[in-house]
Amino acid sequence: HGEPVPGQRPRRRLTVVSGPSGVGKSSVVGELRRLDPDIYFSVSVTTRPPRPGEVDGVHYHFVDRPVFDKMVRAGELLEHAEFTGNCYGTPREPVERALAEGRPAVLEIELQGARQVREAMPDARLVMLMPPSWQELVGRLTGRGTEEEAAVAARLAEAERELAAAGEFDARIVNADVREAARQLLDLMNTDFS
Ligand code: 5GP
Repeated sequence: HGEPVPGQRPRRRLTVVSGPSGVGKSSVVGELRRLDPDIYFSVSVTTRPPRPGEVDGVHYHFVDRPVFDKMVRAGELLEHAEFTGNCYGTPREPVERALAEGRPAVLEIELQGARQVREAMPDARLVMLMPPSWQELVGRLTGRGTEEEAAVAARLAEAERELAAAGEFDARIVNADVREAARQLLDLMNTDFS
């Protein structure tokens, strides 16, 4: 990533990574973090209960519904959405601070949130992570083992909707290999197209 040109706002500093549940967004984003420690990765707030191994303040800020609603009303979220019965949102201030410092920022969020970011920040680049095939996605989601059957079904229904919107995105990356996908993502972030 190059030095910002004085007097010229660097473009495309905000990258949104979306994609259906189970496509491997967290793994790819984790690998991207390893590749470029300068990138700021947003930590979302959610009303979803933590999964085993998830740490408050690291994977998410886990909050209850009243706290979440209060953040929405106070305008503290850059975007927010409901996904399979839980609320998710991006705290605005840390993202704006990172961008002001000239750091690239990455949001890992679902489709409705990606659309809101597009409206609010037209310079953002939207990338959709795609599964190699639908069967592969079904396999990954059912094999995760952390969720009830009904939750898996709900996530698959959402996945179908998300993939149908792939054409709205600036770029699509197929996640057949986590390291390769992360490298492609980093290449995109370092390419100034529009
Ligand atoms: P999970 O419950 O599997 O961690 O996340 C469910 C979905 O919510 C995933 O697609 C994830 O990318 C998305 N998500 C996580 N944080 C946010 C957020 O801050 N805003 C929005 N709109 N979606 C989010």
